[in-house]
Amino acid sequence: VPTVAVVGRPNVGKSTLVNRILGRRAAVVQDEPGVTRDRVAYDAEWAGREFSLVDTGGWDPDAEGMAKSIAMQAELAMRTADVIVFVVDSRVGPTDADEAAVRILRSTRKPVILVANKADSERQEAEVHELWSLGLGEPFPISALHGRNSGDLLDKIIWAFPEQPTGQLKERGPRKVALVGRPNVGKSSLLNRIAGEDRAVVDNVAGTTVDPVDSVVEIDGEDWILVDTAGLRKRVKFASGTEYYASLRTEAAVEAAEVALVMLDASEPISEQDQRVLTQVTESGRAMVLAFNKWDLVDEDRRYYLEKEIDRELGQVSWAPRVNVSAMTGRAVEKIARSLREALEGWGQRISTGELNKWISDLQAATPHPVRANKAPKVIYATQAAAEPPRFILFTNAPFEKQYLKFIQRKLREDFGFVGTPIELVVKPRE
Ligand code: GDP
Repeated sequence: VPTVAVVGRPNVGKSTLVNRILGRRAAVVQDEPGVTRDRVAYDAEWAGREFSLVDTGGWDPDAEGMAKSIAMQAELAMRTADVIVFVVDSRVGPTDADEAAVRILRSTRKPVILVANKADSERQEAEVHELWSLGLGEPFPISALHGRNSGDLLDKIIWAFPEQPTGQLKERGPRKVALVGRPNVGKSSLLNRIAGEDRAVVDNVAGTTVDPVDSVVEIDGEDWILVDTAGLRKRVKFASGTEYYASLRTEAAVEAAEVALVMLDASEPISEQDQRVLTQVTESGRAMVLAFNKWDLVDEDRRYYLEKEIDRELGQVSWAPRVNVSAMTGRAVEKIARSLREALEGWGQRISTGELNKWISDLQAATPHPVRANKAPKVIYATQAAAEPPRFILFTNAPFEKQYLKFIQRKLREDFGFVGTPIELVVKPRE
């Protein structure tokens, strides 16, 4: 959903406006310098459009001074919001701090709505013209306190939202899978098992581009595109397939895919070559599923040692779903589809800014960051900047310890079900 950030000096009425938009008292109205509010983002709705409303007033100045504080608000808004609502006090007129914010806001391409608050009467409305001097276009007079023009402001805000990318609305075609793994793990065998020896490599599937090197296959009643399978289909394999060549091939396949199905040979120790493939896939930012093949060769003993090996060697990708299959007997091959779907869901998941901030403030209340230099560093504001793979930005008041970040990451996975996808956490400490 789009994000709307409210920026402005203390006491111009940001929190009153936030409450007016939410239709309830959610924000703390009195702007007390140095007080950091727990929640700064809220889920809001107007005319059937949902959006996240961010009250950047949480970043109020302490010793740093007004101009710096408001500059930070503006920067935060520019980086994370789709629409910026810049609030000034129409009774005071533009101040130096307002102008400092405007200098920053002018460099953004995002829509900025200049709101002249505290225009409680028609006469006061008429006087907002001096705010034209800020160079942000026409000032929009409102009274957050009395609700005057606030509906019109909301209309203006939702009109400024970016167009929904049509791609998202369109039905997606079959998802793209890269079947990778070191030589001899059984990739060709699996392909043959699910595609059948003679099935045509190129298929016409509506709404998707299929390269001649791709195969459309059906697993568990659903179509999937296995990218770059041409090499796997050759009956005689490249005898001189150097590892370098193989790794380029893996890279190309993974790049072209959304999810990688990494095959490992369950009957053999996990090798360095396996690790290299796993690293390659992790670094690509694609979703991942692990398929342990040749399960028909796995007996009790081997199973025991394999579990140990997995614990020891695959800690970095413990988030990837695992399926134990046999390309030879066909064991559990259908189950691959469910894991692929699960991984793709985690990969594409988006958490709204409101929900995320509520979650992180609850998390910090239950388990705060260890105290350092007399205070526990805190996340002031969090946002999911991207999906596929998920990427989170945490704005904090001090640098964070690695351990605590790992904790947040683990909790994110647990509480929101991020399975089968790498997650990126970026920390932006203040200053
Ligand atoms: P690729 O190099 O990854 O494409 O591996 P291949 O599909 O060529 O398989 C390598 C070898 O492992 C061949 O001899 C296959 O017959 C054998 N193989 C593949 N899958 C299985 C399996 O599930 N069980 C057993 N026992 N052997 C398998």
